[in-house]
Amino acid sequence: MDTFSAAERSNIMRRVKSRNTRPERIVGLMVRSFGYRQHRNREDLPGCPDIVLPGKRIAIFVHGCFWHGHHCARGRLPTSNIEFWTTKISMNISRDRAARTALRRLGFTVKTLWACSLNSSLSRLIRELQRVRRNRRRVRRRSTEFAKYRE
Ligand SMILES: [Zn+2]
Repeated sequence: MDTFSAAERSNIMRRVKSRNTRPERIVGLMVRSFGYRQHRNREDLPGCPDIVLPGKRIAIFVHGCFWHGHHCARGRLPTSNIEFWTTKISMNISRDRAARTALRRLGFTVKTLWACSLNSSLSRLIRELQRVRRNRRRVRRRSTEFAKYRE
């Protein structure tokens, strides 16, 4: 069972829309609502993921669209200094890609959430975490059944 009630979780989701809450904080709250241990800004890991669930080996990035070059309205480059911005943002994009690859090599599942679509990506993440939890329960149940047969 989730640690937070459905009402509490929808409260968190409502905060996604409020302007003053940083997206990383929202995602952190949501992960905590599952009762999972989490680390923030793990500088010792490639790309310094915003949130890491060490027990599940999940690394989560919450990206601002502009700085990380998202293909959306918020990620559009300014019209002045085009060359500077193109170089800078494309460097960020390749650094992000390298970080994801390195994390996967370390056995992490990498999730990237974008600021422009935080609400929908958060709902997706919640569904995935719920699936992870259900699978774990199933495995546990199966191993108790096996134990019964062994006796
Ligand atoms: Zn975006």
